[in-house]
Amino acid sequence: MKKFAELFKIKKKADVDMGQENMNISGPTEVQHDVHVTYDAHTQSFSGIPDSWKGYIDKFISKAEIERDPDAVVSAVKWMQHSMRMKKEDIKFTPTDRTIKEESDAIDHALDNNSGKSCSGNLEEVSLSNKTSTSADESSTESSVKDKKTLNDEVDNKQAIDAISPVQVRKKPAKLSDEEVLEKLRLLCSPDHPDSIFEKISEIGSGASGTVFIARNRRLGNKVAIKDIDLDKQPKKELILTEIKVMRELRHENLVNFLDVYLLDNHLWVIMELLDGGPLTDVVTETIMKEPQIAAVCNQTLQGINYLHQNGVIHRDIKSDNVLLGKDGSIKVTDFGFCANIQGDEKRQTMVGTPYWMAPEVVNRKHYGKKVDIWSLGIMAIEMIEGEPPYLKETPLRALYLIASNGKPSVPSWDKLSPEFQDFLNRCLEVDTEKRASSEELLSHRFLNKAVSTTTLKPLIEAAQKILDKRISHAM
Ligand code: ATP
Ligand code: MG
Repeated sequence: MKKFAELFKIKKKADVDMGQENMNISGPTEVQHDVHVTYDAHTQSFSGIPDSWKGYIDKFISKAEIERDPDAVVSAVKWMQHSMRMKKEDIKFTPTDRTIKEESDAIDHALDNNSGKSCSGNLEEVSLSNKTSTSADESSTESSVKDKKTLNDEVDNKQAIDAISPVQVRKKPAKLSDEEVLEKLRLLCSPDHPDSIFEKISEIGSGASGTVFIARNRRLGNKVAIKDIDLDKQPKKELILTEIKVMRELRHENLVNFLDVYLLDNHLWVIMELLDGGPLTDVVTETIMKEPQIAAVCNQTLQGINYLHQNGVIHRDIKSDNVLLGKDGSIKVTDFGFCANIQGDEKRQTMVGTPYWMAPEVVNRKHYGKKVDIWSLGIMAIEMIEGEPPYLKETPLRALYLIASNGKPSVPSWDKLSPEFQDFLNRCLEVDTEKRASSEELLSHRFLNKAVSTTTLKPLIEAAQKILDKRISHAM
């Protein structure tokens, strides 16, 4: 299961150790092209953004970097601006030690003084006109740096479009009401009273959509994980419906399989396989993995991703937090909250995912598809080498700029890696999506021949759990 309202999620040891509040930037679900940010190369200035944001950019991205790749700055700012359009209480920041206060102040300021609002108010209208005129390729062209356009030019453009009326409006399927969603959920749920079947033992943790418990099946005696979702607290119940439908249909050895779902007093109990070894994040942050172990994790994760892709599903949030381990060394992908059902090779423009793992085509808001998961797998492989993804210590804005601008990130330990591993990373972290490997291609990559049995992960899992004093291990 996933979070439905948030976009960034960092649960790194560093954050915990520094006693920082785990703040994230909330995530969009469906992205609109909300503002019209441009860079004027002659005056070396941005338009379409509030002044407070200009100061924010200056603080985190140097003049030389802006000149080197203004497109990347525009992409990063657009992405951040989109996040800022979420309700303020939904906004969370992904902090890094010294920048947390500065960043939240800057963004608070941008929200509070409303300079952004008035700005985007005008510009929304403008981008609406753009949208009408360029529909198919808007995302790939809109981010490009163009000569500064005045608002008047844009308004003229809108008038020209108005002149071609009458406009034929596309019919969209009506959105389901909460009651309709609940009705559909009820139909999906098992009729029994979950309390009579499961006994909750202890809490593992909670995420954006609910709390996860370890529970025992009273009759069979086996343990399961239950995510308890309070539907009254879920603004987007339709997403839960979609998620449950996706989870029910997918079954694979390398996915955290859905077992059943119950409805009790407006709480959904989603019964899942229990993975008692914690997330891969614990292992990468606390222990040093050897290449054959990394190959084993890549292999298992890829099997799960490949199964999703074969079934027309993009995960879109592959990262170590979403790879759960069993104490026996089993490796399973979880959190389908951001999954998108896609038909064939249809590409999506939705901007979701976790920034540090995000593929450049996502940051640049180009059309993207299944291969975003392959990029994220490459970033997860870097986590297994270095203990964290590239740019984790940077602010989100700067990280977005660096992803868009640098393409393949550099890996500090690169020279210590085998040629097979280097090639595997190159195939995952290829900016050109045509050249980037597919999950199927990667499954026959020679790096995976190095994979050892996943049971060799057991000592690492145990060590990480001991260091972190994980409650789950006590409950087992
Ligand atoms: P998000 O809201 O982004 O998913 P999250 O993963 O922290 O954040 P949950 O998915 O609600 O939130 O999970 C809460 C905790 O329970 C996490 O520590 C997660 O690793 C753990 N967890 C989730 N599913 C299982 C499972 N099937 N077996 C064991 N632990 C699980
Ligand atoms: Mg989760």
